[in-house]
Amino acid sequence: MEMEEVFLLLGSNRGERRQILERALALVGERAGEVSQLSSLYETEPWGFEDAVPFLNQAAALRTVREPLELLGILQGIEEELGRRRPVGGAGPYLPRTIDIDILLWGGRVIRGSRLTVPHPRLALRRFALVPLAEIAAEAVDPLTGLTVARLLERCDDHGSVKRL
Ligand code: AMP
Repeated sequence: MEMEEVFLLLGSNRGERRQILERALALVGERAGEVSQLSSLYETEPWGFEDAVPFLNQAAALRTVREPLELLGILQGIEEELGRRRPVGGAGPYLPRTIDIDILLWGGRVIRGSRLTVPHPRLALRRFALVPLAEIAAEAVDPLTGLTVARLLERCDDHGSVKRL
């Protein structure tokens, strides 16, 4: 199996946010591969959430031999374990989360499945994803547009606040 570089975005807006991100990253490193780069922590305005607690977001590069759905399963296991609350009866997707882990990019791959879409479908729309990602991978290329992450960020219309801590 080939080693590939995957970029993740972690986010938490509940509880001890820093510790939760650290714990999640430790589990990713134990179960999925080598966390080879980490961005700073960013405090970001909630986006579509009722809750007023700002998110802490952090981007990570992961070198892994896992297959995409296998990695997604590992990440979802970590989310569950760290106590993410899922909406009761599917009552809207936006609830405060202990931890959310998204797969932003997977090398140059395009994945379109029922459980997983890569590049992440909202990557180019969200400063809270692009700013941390640009810190560690400004020159990574979005295989759909051929644009670098730095360029996606320049073109992004989102004005949500993203503050480097
Ligand atoms: P969310 O509640 O926004 O974290 O969405 C979780 C759902 O998004 C899961 O059921 C995943 O199967 C799906 N999903 C699709 N694409 C991705 C991706 N690139 N990274 C993480 N989850 C994804």
